[in-house]
Amino acid sequence: MTRRTKILATLGPATDKPGVLESILEAGVNVVRINFSHGSEEEHLGRVKAVREWAQENDTYIGVLMDLQGPKIRIASFKDGMKIQLNNGDSFALDADKDNLLGDQTSVGIAYKTLPQEVKPGNILILDDGKIVLEVTEIVGNKINTVVTQGGILSDKKGINLRGGGLSANALTEKDKKDIFTAAKAKADYVALSFPINGDDVRETKILLKEAGSHAGVISKIERAESLKENTILDIINESAGIMVARGDLGVEIGDAQLPAQQKRLIKMARSNDRIVITATQMLESMIENPIPTRAEVFDVANAVLDGTDAVMLSAETAAGAYPRNAVETMAEVCVEAEKNPIAKVSQHRLNQNFKDIDETIALSSMYAANHLGVKVIASLTQTGYTALWMSRISSDVSIYAISANVSTLRKVTLYRGVYPCGINEVANTSWGEVNKSVIDTLTKNNVVADGDLVILTKGMHQDNKGGGTNMMKILRVGDNDY
Ligand code: PGA
Ligand code: MN
Repeated sequence: MTRRTKILATLGPATDKPGVLESILEAGVNVVRINFSHGSEEEHLGRVKAVREWAQENDTYIGVLMDLQGPKIRIASFKDGMKIQLNNGDSFALDADKDNLLGDQTSVGIAYKTLPQEVKPGNILILDDGKIVLEVTEIVGNKINTVVTQGGILSDKKGINLRGGGLSANALTEKDKKDIFTAAKAKADYVALSFPINGDDVRETKILLKEAGSHAGVISKIERAESLKENTILDIINESAGIMVARGDLGVEIGDAQLPAQQKRLIKMARSNDRIVITATQMLESMIENPIPTRAEVFDVANAVLDGTDAVMLSAETAAGAYPRNAVETMAEVCVEAEKNPIAKVSQHRLNQNFKDIDETIALSSMYAANHLGVKVIASLTQTGYTALWMSRISSDVSIYAISANVSTLRKVTLYRGVYPCGINEVANTSWGEVNKSVIDTLTKNNVVADGDLVILTKGMHQDNKGGGTNMMKILRVGDNDY
């Protein structure tokens, strides 16, 4: 059975070791994530190049997502790189005036200098992704005095989150603006925007990408409490190619207990607005150190699949873990099994809504036909990939082949659930009968279909024969030679 849910794997030192990148791509990674939070431009471009070369040699398509660091707020460093032990009840201060290298047992500097103006007594600050919790007691000038309510070991540059969100830091930092040029240079298929507050952040990112000459789709990482407000999240979704349920930072801001419900809500909202959605962070966390996952992690991946996610993401499991290939194999296996559940195959998508456009109507009608007629696959001839995207918003077990001569489209669809890229030569100046035949021949050659199978073909059949918006659907039987 072909896996429909896509695997997004982060590259890093572990995948730079000889043979590891190849092994995770072979194991089924569909899209790689390059994390701008670590590494140099040279390293990023080198990784992208290696992935593209592998894809070419293996006659396949791998998407590239480049993830902007965003305004991650951090403490500064401790004297001589020391670690400190904080105990419940201790007093500890975050001091914007303190030297960045002189943190000690009583206080530490902060890189985000306006933090003291943005918090007030009673606020809860969470350090190091939840490991340490501080309650603000008073603000004295540029110093935030706190009491430790959950102790632990604290070391250099750990992240700071405010419970409930609300910090005003801009989503796009100067570094992000520079990294957007690197993404353009790398011809990234997607750029992930960290910590967007609202749709304006996405709009600004799209302008910067365009100015840099990039056609990357923006994936907005949902990781601030305030971006969850109904109108805000809808604006973000509609401005973006897709969203990421960024459970790491979001969980810290809203509390982990609220995450499962938000994950379901965000996945549903993205899908019903015809956008893609990635579920991320700690999916197989224990596999950073172990060759097998915990049972809870298996359930987590499976539940994201049943929630309808397009892709599941691996972070340190592949970037820095000891068992990158096992992590990918585990994910692939769990996805395939979860997809067998009837919940993954039925859909109420748009059943009681009017369609907006002709192409969308063809896409959704094709899925209806495919689900009820028992066709082997759908073949969607597409320039932009939109038809395939619309189709894939309907849960189904029918594979959707996005057939295109446009390499950028072929790479973008690697992230769509149930959609598989299939390259063909330019179709202009070829009769439609010949195009249909070449599509069927390609699918037959790749063992996707065989004689007797039904295939639904959709395409834009316009008088100038140049392609364009999808306006027709044809049902073909392989081997009939009457295409
Ligand atoms: P990060 O984003 O890994 O870049 O922090 C994902 C998350 O916060 O879950
Ligand atoms: Mn994050």
